[in-house]
Amino acid sequence: MAEAVVIGAGIGGLAAALALQRRGWAVTVVERAQALEDVGAGLAVAPNAVRALDSLGVGEPVRALAALQGTAGIQRPDGRWISRTDAAAAEARFGEPTVVVHRAALVRVLAEALQPGTLRLGVPASEVSADGVVVTSEGTTTADLVVAADGLRSGVRAKLFPETAGPIYAGVTSWRFIVARPPGELVLSETWGEGKVFGVVGLGDGRVYCYATAPAPPQGSAADERAELARLFGGWHAPIPGLIAAADSVIRTDIRCLDPAPPTFHKGRVALLGDAAHAMTPNLGQGACQAIEDAVVLAAHVRTPDGTSSLSRALAAYSAERVPRTAAVAAASRRIGRMAGLSGAAARLRNTGMLLAGKLGPNLVLRQMDPVLAWRPPG
Ligand SMILES: Cc1cc2nc3c(=O)[nH]c(=O)nc-3n(C[C@H](O)[C@H](O)[C@H](O)COP(=O)(O)OP(=O)(O)OC[C@H]3O[C@@H](n4cnc5c(N)ncnc54)[C@H](O)[C@@H]3O)c2cc1C
Repeated sequence: MAEAVVIGAGIGGLAAALALQRRGWAVTVVERAQALEDVGAGLAVAPNAVRALDSLGVGEPVRALAALQGTAGIQRPDGRWISRTDAAAAEARFGEPTVVVHRAALVRVLAEALQPGTLRLGVPASEVSADGVVVTSEGTTTADLVVAADGLRSGVRAKLFPETAGPIYAGVTSWRFIVARPPGELVLSETWGEGKVFGVVGLGDGRVYCYATAPAPPQGSAADERAELARLFGGWHAPIPGLIAAADSVIRTDIRCLDPAPPTFHKGRVALLGDAAHAMTPNLGQGACQAIEDAVVLAAHVRTPDGTSSLSRALAAYSAERVPRTAAVAAASRRIGRMAGLSGAAARLRNTGMLLAGKLGPNLVLRQMDPVLAWRPPG
């Protein structure tokens, strides 16, 4: 049986392992951390990725983790709407809802779908070569296929694509936290004001996931991140100040992306996948969704792992399909980030344009998402 080694047990690596196992590969996942990711944050899984998860046999358990979202949209800091979308209209258009799940719960669903013994936790890969040799703390293996799903700061990318620059700072930092749902009706929305963003989303376990972004110097931190959020967003519309006050653990992450990504996502027997290949800004909520797409497409191309020449053709086909797709999604995400980051007169002009687009019909707004969300897995 052909053997694959996956480096990294994030969402991308786990999805790739599952996709390859379902195609008959013998898969080992090596993860340097001692435990699977347990970041206290939510994650939007958009219709394109929900369909990909269906093709991996885990769409239903992921849907079961999500809360149904009702009316959503974009508001101003004083609560007035800039644009409204209806989750039902979006679901009707794309055939699937966007589900928002706890990150750790999605990781668990993927990990539990793997064959027992697939995951090797606490095992860093220290050396990877294009001919499939992987050195880990447990020894040296030569794999038919290596999937480098080792994230934003991928050591494999740095070694095999030395001409590609590393991640760059996008100029904004982010905060994420989860709190109990406050009493009363909760309007789920993203609020844009003076270059800053605050988002509120319901989770399936009844809690609320909040995220925020604001321009900041790189590698900054505050003595008290909750107080920092209160300083930046405390004057915004309800329930934002109350949600911030209820937060007891706030995660701060600088937003970094690859711009540009490597020109191909493969070298020899190694395929780059997920953030290792195309880390993007989170404005479209597509980073992990694209990693899941990568996994499904990669496994479809390498489904007959019968020799070097067919593997190299398969990986070339994987790159040919995924490089333009992920570049387009990353560019769309950066565009939304730039729009959300406007302030002053430019922001007022943006708000008027979006209000007008909304009046012309919600379908106009949704249609703009077609290229991203209407994607279907191969076969
Ligand atoms: C604020 C924020 C909000 C976001 N919101 C969304 C969202 O709503 N929807 C969405 O789709 N995306 C979102 N994203 C993006 C998403 O988080 C990432 O795109 C996704 O997690 C990438 O998954 P990955 O598996 O490629 O990488 P990672 O999750 O980074 O996993 C890489 C793994 O590789 C391991 N590793 C690294 N080096 C080695 C080594 N040498 N040996 C062994 N293991 C190694 C690491 O320990 C890690 O576990 C968001 C990102 C941010 C910052």
